[in-house]
Amino acid sequence: NTQRTPLIAGNWKMNLDHLQAIAFVQKLAWNLKDAKHDFAAVEVAVFPPFTDLRSVQTLVSADKLPVVFGAQDVSAHDSGAFTGEISGAFLAQLECTYVLIGHSERRTLHGENDEEVAAKVTAAVKHGLVPIICVGETAADLELHGPSAVPVAQLRTALSGIDSAADIVVAYEPVWAIGSGQAATPEQAEQVAAQLRLVLSETLGQDVADKTRILYGGSVKGVNIAGYMREPNVDGALVGGASLDIDEFSSIVRFQK
Ligand code: PEP
Repeated sequence: NTQRTPLIAGNWKMNLDHLQAIAFVQKLAWNLKDAKHDFAAVEVAVFPPFTDLRSVQTLVSADKLPVVFGAQDVSAHDSGAFTGEISGAFLAQLECTYVLIGHSERRTLHGENDEEVAAKVTAAVKHGLVPIICVGETAADLELHGPSAVPVAQLRTALSGIDSAADIVVAYEPVWAIGSGQAATPEQAEQVAAQLRLVLSETLGQDVADKTRILYGGSVKGVNIAGYMREPNVDGALVGGASLDIDEFSSIVRFQK
């Protein structure tokens, strides 16, 4: 779809400290520039830990690197007595473009529910960040309800506090495919992505549905990215493990359909 620029997003999770982050982002950008990567044609984003963001911002702005970045989570609150939380205002000030919201590890390890995800999405949009709304079914959900029911319900709730003016990205990440090496097939990813696009059209309108990027995530690597990118409703990937290896991540960014 020509309206939607593909996005390859690297979720570092709790890996790489602020010094390692600087070296990594610099090397990644050089590597891709050497390979003549067209950053306008395929957008590249990294999601370092919070403590790396200031260093990454400084590097990216000083060296004018064509890589964008975001945080892995955001508070639903603006400021105040919320020990340990990070406001969207702080992230916007650090020139974060994106923020991951509702990643399956936040949902399972930190008990985030759909309402909290919705509140965070609303907060992100309010502060001018683009939320990457993560949805996906567990293996048990898949067996009980089929592939789309849970991600569709998660997305509906996640969108409840925003309107059609909001800039958003959706990431379909089946929980059973994350970090398991057991990636969904391109057909499976497409089937759910198409349902998620219908939700976008029903809730925020056809224009939003047409322009919003839907990513696939779950054991994406250099060898399997092309299959997803050939699907009409998949507009990029959210990459975990493989985003920590510069060569591997570069090969995902430089996919050939
Ligand atoms: C993720 O954490 O968002 C993810 C998709 O991880 P992996 O690529 O390692 O499966």
